[in-house]
Amino acid sequence: MIKKTDVIVIGGGHAGVEAAAAAARIGAEVCLITIDDSKIGVMSCNPAIGGIGKGHIVRELDALGGVMPIAADKAGIQFKVLNASKGPAVRGPRCQADRDIYKKAIQDALKNYKKIKIVSEIVTALKIKKNKCFGVELASGESIISNSVVLTAGTFLNGLIHIGDKKVSAGRLNEKSSTKLGSFLKGLNLPMARLKTGTPPRLIKSSINFKILEEDFGDNNPDFFSSSTSFSNNKQVSCHITWTNKETHQIIKKSISKSPLYNGTISSRGPRYCPSIEDKIHKFYTRERHRIMLEPEGLESELVYPNGISTSLPLERQIDMINSMKGLEKAKIAQPGYAIEYDHIDPRALTNTLESKKICNLFFAGQINGTTGYEEAAGQGLIAGVNAALALDKKKGDWTLNRTNSYIGVMIDDLISRGAPEPYRMFTSRAEYRLSLRADNADLRLSDKAIKINLLDNIRKDIYLRYKEEINKLTKICNSISLTPNEASKIGIKLSADGKRRNMLELIGFDNINEQQILLQYPSIKDFSTRVLTQLRIQSKYNVHVKKQEASIISHKKDSKLKIPQNIDYKKIGGLSKECSDALGFAKPADLAAAARIPGVTAAALTSVLLYTKKTKVKKIAG
Ligand code: FAD
Repeated sequence: MIKKTDVIVIGGGHAGVEAAAAAARIGAEVCLITIDDSKIGVMSCNPAIGGIGKGHIVRELDALGGVMPIAADKAGIQFKVLNASKGPAVRGPRCQADRDIYKKAIQDALKNYKKIKIVSEIVTALKIKKNKCFGVELASGESIISNSVVLTAGTFLNGLIHIGDKKVSAGRLNEKSSTKLGSFLKGLNLPMARLKTGTPPRLIKSSINFKILEEDFGDNNPDFFSSSTSFSNNKQVSCHITWTNKETHQIIKKSISKSPLYNGTISSRGPRYCPSIEDKIHKFYTRERHRIMLEPEGLESELVYPNGISTSLPLERQIDMINSMKGLEKAKIAQPGYAIEYDHIDPRALTNTLESKKICNLFFAGQINGTTGYEEAAGQGLIAGVNAALALDKKKGDWTLNRTNSYIGVMIDDLISRGAPEPYRMFTSRAEYRLSLRADNADLRLSDKAIKINLLDNIRKDIYLRYKEEINKLTKICNSISLTPNEASKIGIKLSADGKRRNMLELIGFDNINEQQILLQYPSIKDFSTRVLTQLRIQSKYNVHVKKQEASIISHKKDSKLKIPQNIDYKKIGGLSKECSDALGFAKPADLAAAARIPGVTAAALTSVLLYTKKTKVKKIAG
């Protein structure tokens, strides 16, 4: 048994894996301790990686040398860019992932890290002296000493599963809960609270009548997460769509008193953006149906994941509910849906490196910090892992991301400044700089920073450096070409016939441009890959907006003390979601800084409030 190491990571979930790998990449000896090492890399809930906001985080992980993007590419059995018809800033790469392939890809990746030792054990306590953490105690009675510890216990701290009136102490179904460590942390008097999440029942594939259901296809040309992936070996499959109906809603309404979410058994808050089916029927009672996506759990798997129907109703009611839906009339449940309550730490007790403010060299990452989702966990894991390794030599200082360079930075800033009164998940609306924080430019935003501390592996580093060089070359070429309106019309751009020459760099982002014609007319551009040309086109398209946005953010910061009239009608403010206008109308913040502290109020919403307040004040003065 290992006795001493540089960094201990507790937990082999998405946060733990990235923390261990990041710490090892920058040179630390790492011991990853997890309850059951065969479960490393398990996806606790939906068999998918990425999506809106989340896909951005996975691309950022790739730019920083993370493990998740490559594993997701290896496991992808359906790739799809969400919001593909919208602008590049809000497009979210996503894939359905084969659970077994994903888990194997993660475990294989860790085996390649010579500096990571894996121990299958339960941690029961942390070793702390003079407010400094220096190791862990194990259930076996042994101890391991380290310079720093990263705790990523997910939903396991005093985890309690609910299915109807049945309660089981567990971290996930059929996995032990972490009760001793939970009690130990409470004894440290760290600010802690309880949250809940839920998962739907799993269905047996052969019992579903797919023939009568609508099929949902992936993209023909997969958009991978990692720059190092160029093809997929996996057969690509479809999902299927069914809907809840009046009968389903009746069954749920009649059984609502049996749901621990509604009979007072569970009082902790669940993820607002991933509500249980009980919540959907109760809160959105005017909706006649809800879409349920039937997602394959894997190529060889006999299981199907019905996305959109997480529940904690008793099993008999879950069966009735499932069988009331089209195509699921004879569907059989292989594993019931359930809700789980767990302890988490208030992330306001952490710094932006995710280190505890109270206990030195103790870092927290993942669901334990109040987030929900694999990607959110992985993003935090990487930051905590890097800083836990850097803590070996305090002279090296901290390594952090911020709101202007990444979604990971936005998430950590949100968590440590606003806390997590409800499970936090990422959305593009949380980022005020979202026009520049795109999934397509994560490497250009972050890889140089990663290279400085040797965080990026050699393969991705070489790919990135070549790509950056190509972009620079093409930028120079485009900058040297100028077109008259007549020449521009030959490549599909209609300009006013003013005889003025315009720079190709400016024009290349125009929507109607004919790429084939550009390549024909300007052969020097032909040598560049589609990826390089596309990146330049997006940069050109967004250039003006990004500059405007930066200016608006600067004035936004200056205006944080701007007084908001107390009689303001938030419903009249264009661009505010109902959720934001309700939250603002309820809290009636005195100024913009107070508005920013209200949970659920996004950066984009603040900008709308700012503009509206300024406009109404100007009108008053003028009137
Ligand atoms: P986990 O993946 O939970 O990993 C925790 C790790 O810590 C495990 O390896 C465990 O063995 C280890 N561990 C715990 N205590 C100890 C100890 N004392 N000693 C050693 N090892 C320990 N996300 C969504 O985005 N959407 C959803 O709808 C959704 N629903 C969910 C439903 C359920 C029932 C669950 C359980 C999770 C759900 N999630 C959902 C959340 C998602 O699974 C997590 O956000 C993500 O897995 C968190 O990653 P993590 O690394 O923080 O923790």
